[in-house]
Amino acid sequence: MQSHTEHTLGPRQEIAALPIYNAGISAAVARRVSGRQDIAALASNENPYGSSPAVSAALASLTPSRYSDPASGALRQALSEKLGTSPDRIVCGNGSEELIAALCRAYLQKGDTVLTISPCFGLHEIEPMAAGAQVIKVPMTPALDYDVDALVRELTRRPKIVFVSSPSNPVGPALSRQALERLLEAVHPMTLFVLDEAYFELIDSGYPDGLKVLADRSTLSWVVLRTFSKAYGLAGLRVGYGISSDEGIAKAMRASVTPFNVNAAAQAAAIAALQDEAWMIEAAAKIRRDRSILADRLRQLGVRVVPSQTNFLFLDLATEATPVAGALLQKGIVVKPWMEAGYTHFLRVSIGTAADNERFATELGRGLGLV
Ligand SMILES: *Cc1c(COP(=O)(O)O)cnc(C)c1O
Repeated sequence: MQSHTEHTLGPRQEIAALPIYNAGISAAVARRVSGRQDIAALASNENPYGSSPAVSAALASLTPSRYSDPASGALRQALSEKLGTSPDRIVCGNGSEELIAALCRAYLQKGDTVLTISPCFGLHEIEPMAAGAQVIKVPMTPALDYDVDALVRELTRRPKIVFVSSPSNPVGPALSRQALERLLEAVHPMTLFVLDEAYFELIDSGYPDGLKVLADRSTLSWVVLRTFSKAYGLAGLRVGYGISSDEGIAKAMRASVTPFNVNAAAQAAAIAALQDEAWMIEAAAKIRRDRSILADRLRQLGVRVVPSQTNFLFLDLATEATPVAGALLQKGIVVKPWMEAGYTHFLRVSIGTAADNERFATELGRGLGLV
């Protein structure tokens, strides 16, 4: 790393040292590289069915010249009615990503400890690091499930914040009720427990609703994060939300974002999406069905597929994933090779349309020499 003299303008040390967020390759780049127009975009866990027609209608009647509601009042009211939670405990963000950053900005000081899992959603590590915290990562078990025993051990050391995604991005499983309750038993009241449920709408029945489980824990400080990016299909508009255990946490999050953080298009679209939950439920059902079809197909090819409660699959290729992803890109298929140390044999593929999934399976089988 370059050292900075007093004549060189450099960012804070924590920022200079950050790893880069591993964002998926855009369709435009994929077209250029592959020379193909029919790109299968399977890297960013987007909804292959788009979003509800109610969203397009709401976007058509926007007034772009007016500032958005800084409090996202109507959206918070709609969420409050859906969730049965006071709007004062709900905060909307420019994507739930922004709320991860806001929590770090609000609660972390240099030297604090944050607990998360590896492999993890990149921002559960990057945002705490940007705030100067030390990040402890508890690896998944060899079977690629949550290591509840190890997490319980680390929780007793009272990290300032713990970020857990359930279902897990990038791995796919969700915490069982028993596992979640064991974690909560170990959380100290001075630790903020953040449950990132970005894929909540895609879980099979039989798993707990994290918000309901946490609502019974009046002595704990917690935040549940959810998003419109995945099942609702609004990734490009950037809108997510957090539900907190008390108004104080919501206030701290609000104070840590920019005043007009959620733009008017995003607010209008999210409200429209909530008014047409039937669309989301149908899309989620198709994605779950195709997730199981693709998993079976890949297992038949001999690929190790981690069971998933999300709109993606995590595949152990038993070889470095980056060259395989590069070869798929040449065919117009964009997927995400995992870059985290210890997991570079894994590829994450989003569930797309049935046709895109089949195209991926065929090309992966050829690329790995399995067919
Ligand atoms: C996709 C994702 C998010 C980010 O969602 P946005 O609302 O689009 O910012 C947050 N957490 C996890 C675990 C995700 O996979």
